[in-house]
Amino acid sequence: METKILSGRELSKKILENSRKKIKEFEKKGLRNPSLAVILVGDDPASEIYVARKHEACKEVGINSLDIRLPANTSFEEIREKIKMLNEDENVDGILLQLPLPRSLREKTLELIRIINPEKDVDGFTPFNFGSMAIGIEGAIMPCTVKGILELLRYYDINVEGKDCVVIGASNIAGKPLANVLINLFATVTVCHIKTRCLSKHTKHADIVISATGVPHLIKREMVKEGAVVIDVGITRVNGKVVGDVDFESMIGHASAITPVPGGVGPLTIAMLIENTIDCYTRRNVTGK
Ligand code: NAD
Repeated sequence: METKILSGRELSKKILENSRKKIKEFEKKGLRNPSLAVILVGDDPASEIYVARKHEACKEVGINSLDIRLPANTSFEEIREKIKMLNEDENVDGILLQLPLPRSLREKTLELIRIINPEKDVDGFTPFNFGSMAIGIEGAIMPCTVKGILELLRYYDINVEGKDCVVIGASNIAGKPLANVLINLFATVTVCHIKTRCLSKHTKHADIVISATGVPHLIKREMVKEGAVVIDVGITRVNGKVVGDVDFESMIGHASAITPVPGGVGPLTIAMLIENTIDCYTRRNVTGK
């Protein structure tokens, strides 16, 4: 069987180009450029790389990005005040709190997310946006990774309606929102996680397998039925190399389609962040410079 490689890089380039054009139009109308505040607490190396990519993409399309760095020992109250300030700032259209937070703050993650003004919640993580997405409100701000996966499926003409989809990983940022959206698209969805007893029992029968665990090479050829579509969300660094959740090589000639890591879901997540920022900006009816 020929395995189609679902390139997120190719599609993300088109999306970014389109975003750049939209922003040029705002500029022509004399409007100020959209702006995104990215808060990074601590110095987690992976987060540093993700945040750098987000700033690069903003620069590429003409979004003003604010690089807000806070030391790992910043208190909950200080971060809360920072978010509140950004909520009030008329010149800020989007607010992103880079996750995960340092260990000492991790249990406060949801509390901090809830403080973000839903109108500036470019990640779609606030209860308002998450809820709107889950109940299928059209135009709800959707988490970037989920939106990116949908764009990818659409671009490559992969329809999920009526399909058996298995989502592996049930985090608030990937697995859970993805499962909700797939249900709204009439897929039959099974969600697996760390306590799932026999992962392959579920994955073996799926038409579409989407893995978002961060466990390198968790998903192997024998766990997936021939002809299935495999979407790999995982990004982990092993011996300096970026790998996904899926044993990519073993899927060639077995899966009908697969996303590579890197170059699959990752670039689309960034492209969707740009789209969400433009969306938030547009909804705020920015006038003048
Ligand atoms: P997380 O640690 O919050 O959640 C991991 C999930 O995987 C949990 O639900 C856990 O129960 C499940 N899990 C862990 N080990 C498992 C196992 N052995 N079997 C079955 N389920 C298991 O992680 P996250 O923030 O959701 O991220 C997951 C991965 O996706 C990471 O590698 C992250 O870097 C990557 N990620 C990539 C993008 C992207 O743009 N491509 C975006 C977000 C996250």
